[in-house]
Amino acid sequence: MLTEIAQTDTPEATKAAINRAVLLLQAGEAVALPTETVYGLAADATNPVAVAKIFEAKERPAFDPLIVHLPQRKALPEVATIPDDLESDHARLIENFWPGPLTIVLPKTDAIPDIVTSGLPTVGVRMSDHSVFKQIARALDKPIAAPSANRFGRISPTSASAVAEELDGRIPLIVDGGACARGLESTIIRLEKARGPKPFIHILRAGPITEDDLKKFGKIVRESHNEAVEANAPEAPGMLASHYAPRTPLRLLSAPDEFVPQPGLRYALLSYRGQKKDRYLGLTDWAELLVLSPGSGKLPEAGIRFFHLLRQLDKFENIDEIIAEPVPDRGVGAAIMERLRKAAAGSGV
Ligand code: AMP
Ligand code: MG
Repeated sequence: MLTEIAQTDTPEATKAAINRAVLLLQAGEAVALPTETVYGLAADATNPVAVAKIFEAKERPAFDPLIVHLPQRKALPEVATIPDDLESDHARLIENFWPGPLTIVLPKTDAIPDIVTSGLPTVGVRMSDHSVFKQIARALDKPIAAPSANRFGRISPTSASAVAEELDGRIPLIVDGGACARGLESTIIRLEKARGPKPFIHILRAGPITEDDLKKFGKIVRESHNEAVEANAPEAPGMLASHYAPRTPLRLLSAPDEFVPQPGLRYALLSYRGQKKDRYLGLTDWAELLVLSPGSGKLPEAGIRFFHLLRQLDKFENIDEIIAEPVPDRGVGAAIMERLRKAAAGSGV
């Protein structure tokens, strides 16, 4: 299959790209679209044959459920039901964070076929805030299933060229919407009724919407640090311990003195700020050195650059091991650390 890349660098090009994407989605094809988190591989979520093409192109196992993106807020009841006792809690979160990178897990309706949710009775739902994605979703006027547009288990794509590296020849279209503004997949939550006035907010995957952003809406429970999940016995299929993995082995340090270089081996450093005072730069004569936040953006800047740099590190052919500095485990840093742990668990294969 020939993979077409549609540009969105002029108003005319954008219009043509949107029309092309909508036609293909209506015809039951899977196409790659930009979102504010990472590029997604999109298909009509109500069409099981179209959704099967996502699993096929990604080589994604059937047990890993997809997130559904709505064309507008009022389409939510078509795909999910909100429990009565949590209605106002959900309404507040939706009001605050949609459109945006917050996925909410809810009981699904019959409009969503089992293939989307891997047979789970629940569905993860969000609304993208990317202008091209929004226009496509509205024109299609259907819920869109869209996992990240990478081969299963590998590094999420944050540019059209990264999608092409993953899926060229496997899908008919990539809409190039430029670099992703957040660079990390959505935060995934599930609400649970608590005794007090506020619900529990279970964070199933850390992401761009941080614990700080969410804490006034409920009592935070970090599921993504749950040992059962880490041990690959997930409450939700898909919360796998290994993911986002480079082919080169990756080791996440917790302190500089943990690293003892072996003679003859070549190491690359994924540094947080690239500053001497953090004591990682001087540990060895690094064969390659990439910096997550070389500017003053710190954690959000690191989030935007994270997958792009992992991809770049994986392309160096002269490296035996990637050594990653830890980043502060707060704000967007919690999402980066979660991904670094999973990348370390799945790397080197
Ligand atoms: P991706 O869109 O590729 O970032 O992957 C979607 C991820 O969302 C899955 O791997 C799951 O971790 C999570 N997810 C999707 N649907 C559900 C659900 N119904 N319950 C819990 N987690 C889900
Ligand atoms: Mg993914």
